[in-house]
Amino acid sequence: MRQTPDLPAGQISHDIASHCGPAEAPHVGGVINEADRSAAQGTRPAVNIHMPPVSPVADQASQEPRPSRDEAEAAVRTLLRWAGDDVNREGLLDTPARVARAYEEFFAGYATDPVDLLARSFEETDGYDEMVVLRDIRLESHCEHHMVPIIGRAHVAYLPAGRVVGISKLARVVETYAKRLQIQEKLTAQVANCIQDVLKPKGVAVVIEAAHQCMTTRGIHKPGVTMVTSRMLGAFRDDPSTRREFLHMISGSRAPAEG
Ligand SMILES: [Zn+2]
Repeated sequence: MRQTPDLPAGQISHDIASHCGPAEAPHVGGVINEADRSAAQGTRPAVNIHMPPVSPVADQASQEPRPSRDEAEAAVRTLLRWAGDDVNREGLLDTPARVARAYEEFFAGYATDPVDLLARSFEETDGYDEMVVLRDIRLESHCEHHMVPIIGRAHVAYLPAGRVVGISKLARVVETYAKRLQIQEKLTAQVANCIQDVLKPKGVAVVIEAAHQCMTTRGIHKPGVTMVTSRMLGAFRDDPSTRREFLHMISGSRAPAEG
């Protein structure tokens, strides 16, 4: 059984850039994504890319204690006033509470350890050693720079090395990482690395196509632009025919979701 390649964070981001950089994919929209990418370089914690945090909330816990619900709602009232509205008018009275509840849903991924999701695997596969592909997984995330939605879909594949997982678990891994503040590059790498580290298959492939509302509804306002990121590990990286087979299997999927 192979060891997971232990790549430093810089190498991972370089690898992703080589798959999806604006130079190779002009439709990606180089201006915004280049800016986002360089802004992310300095702050991206290496440990987060390779392994999920030991404690799901380790990142926050190491800094400041989690604020109370009352504090969160007060912060929403501040933003409403900042936007220019009257927090005491009827329509906004319950908004802070609703926003706090919505945040619990949007960011539920901090409370789940994706490693646990893959812990239960099955070895009775009758020797099945072909690719397992889950395509068109609905993706709902939030960009960590603007806290607005990233909407798209993910395709996940692995080449079993004697063990398989329930297919819904792959979708749950995507969901768990998506329901955190993200950049698409990091999300892609985290999903692939987690499956590789826990399941130890012969290879993992993850492709994510998504529209970023920070780009479609603000900034340069480019609706219809989709960003594509990919992370190939093991056989998907080393064997061109395996990679081709995977890309062929996902090529018939639906048109990208609009963000
Ligand atoms: Zn953004």
